[in-house]
Amino acid sequence: MSPRAPAADHRFILDHVVGFAEVAATDRFAEATPDTVTAILTEAARMCDDVVAPLNRDGDKHPARLENGIVRSSPGYDRGYRAISEGGWIGVSAAPEWGGMGLPHTLATCVNEMLSGACLSLQLKPLLTQGQIEALEHHADDTIKALYLPKLISGEWSGTMNLTEPQAGSDVGALKSKAEPNGDGSYAVTGQKIFITWGDSDLVSNVCHLVLARLPDGAPGTRGISLFMVPKFLPDAAGNPGVANSLRVVSLEHKLGIHGSPTCVMQFDGATGWLVGAPHKGMAAMFTMMNNARLGVGMQGVGVAEAALQKAATFAVDRVQGPTGTAEAGIIGHADVRRMLAEARAQVFAARAIGLACAKAIDMATATADPKWQARAALLTPIAKAFGTDTGIEVADTGVQIHGGMGFIEETGAAQYLRDARITAIYEGTNGIQAMDLVGRKLADNGDAAFRLIGEVEANAKAARAALPDLAGEVWQAAETLREATEALLAMAPQDRFAGAVPYLRAFTLVLGADAHLKAAGADPARTPLAAVMIRRLLPAHAALIDRALTGAADLYALSPADLGAPA
Ligand SMILES: Cc1cc2nc3c(=O)[nH]c(=O)nc-3n(C[C@H](O)[C@H](O)[C@H](O)COP(=O)(O)OP(=O)(O)OC[C@H]3O[C@@H](n4cnc5c(N)ncnc54)[C@H](O)[C@@H]3O)c2cc1C
Repeated sequence: MSPRAPAADHRFILDHVVGFAEVAATDRFAEATPDTVTAILTEAARMCDDVVAPLNRDGDKHPARLENGIVRSSPGYDRGYRAISEGGWIGVSAAPEWGGMGLPHTLATCVNEMLSGACLSLQLKPLLTQGQIEALEHHADDTIKALYLPKLISGEWSGTMNLTEPQAGSDVGALKSKAEPNGDGSYAVTGQKIFITWGDSDLVSNVCHLVLARLPDGAPGTRGISLFMVPKFLPDAAGNPGVANSLRVVSLEHKLGIHGSPTCVMQFDGATGWLVGAPHKGMAAMFTMMNNARLGVGMQGVGVAEAALQKAATFAVDRVQGPTGTAEAGIIGHADVRRMLAEARAQVFAARAIGLACAKAIDMATATADPKWQARAALLTPIAKAFGTDTGIEVADTGVQIHGGMGFIEETGAAQYLRDARITAIYEGTNGIQAMDLVGRKLADNGDAAFRLIGEVEANAKAARAALPDLAGEVWQAAETLREATEALLAMAPQDRFAGAVPYLRAFTLVLGADAHLKAAGADPARTPLAAVMIRRLLPAHAALIDRALTGAADLYALSPADLGAPA
């Protein structure tokens, strides 16, 4: 059975947890009325359930192939891609002047999460195109916008993101690709990029690569990098795909998961490209795309977690193993299985709420240009990325466990979720890099944005005290501990902070997740039992995480590489 898109949960979180009404109250997003929200969520869920989700297994069993330099998609992906593009789902938040719907990014985020749960490999294609659309909207000149945006938004063409090179992964500044001026306003781009998602495709008539490369006078490191639009086919005078550009797919990677998503080694041999944004300012332009993609990848994790959890819960109802002593005959009646499902359900809700809070902050920043909303969006982006993707992996892993031996057998499909989800903690900046971003750049305002958010959690907890005294008290106390930990972290040297970054990020998410559950329980008493699972079973880990976060780095460096297993 394919998973069902969780549109009702999205709606509840929008209405009662993240306060989406504030977005709809702005002039910029006045069209996002409750009726529009209902229409978007309902239609997107229908497409995911009826068209996209049934493709997920086929993509895993029949990976994308490279045939004579062209990538051939997994069976049925043409049908799924058509439904996504013809439904207008690529351009939910894109500018209406280029054919987009102009709706809040929060709604696009809901749709993207549903698509990820339905078929992660296929969803990657529109996700990258959306990131490219946003980068072009913000940084490209009018000619490039007019030529590319309508076709990217309609899905006729698709977009890719070309950062990674063999020696330049997390350290993007180490890239060697070059761009030489051709003298006619275009550039000749040369270099090899690896791990390029959907680097080619038979689902579209052109593939548009945004490539990071260095101009001849570009300084070493990230400061000297520029961004170029390098299409597979050069647009002719009418803007249609014309002559083939000097670029090719060298090979496809064989991967642990997301088999339906072609991961390409790309070779650019003096390929014609056009500058996007100012010379040497490519990282700033690319960051627009990466930030969009970071939240998108976080929600990929949530989507896969939702699908894996639904599958596990269905199995747990049907599978009978001995008497449970409860009303349920299936293993769902056993306390330990019940624990796994309940904790996973609480975690998925928390990760979804945090991702949508991040999306709301992005929309409020867009609508109001208020630096406080910009800082909130910046703070929540690494949190949403890391926690969403960790949730994808952890819940998919729990899903395998609940299936017992059948979880390890491929035909069940539980293992695919775990294999697919694994990459999400790695690409778009590993989760370690996200955590370092949180304790580094995102606390560089002396923690102002973090303290403001923690203050809101405390205020919410105080407001919830009358109705839910015990749960609210625990959330308030955890927020206070997080506040003190943040103060202590700010006083630490960078290396000590980085050593504690991952546990600190996780502690932060537990507090935010508990806050989301508390609000949910306040709005609907039927949600109190799940809030109690979050607050009583998951939140307490924050204290141990904070201890780890404040330990510093000295104990780690007291161990030599040989102590850690490296050759002496
Ligand atoms: C399936 C797949 C699809 C991808 N799609 C794309 C794509 O479309 N476009 C694109 O450009 N790239 C893409 N990538 C590349 C991806 O973004 C990189 O793999 C990722 O950024 C990590 O880089 P790396 O693999 O070189 O690992 P490394 O950078 O070598 O990292 C190895 C380990 O060291 C850690 N590490 C590295 N530097 C630091 C540091 N300063 N401090 C602490 N820890 C550190 C990392 O967290 C990681 O655990 C894709 C990769 C895969 C596998």
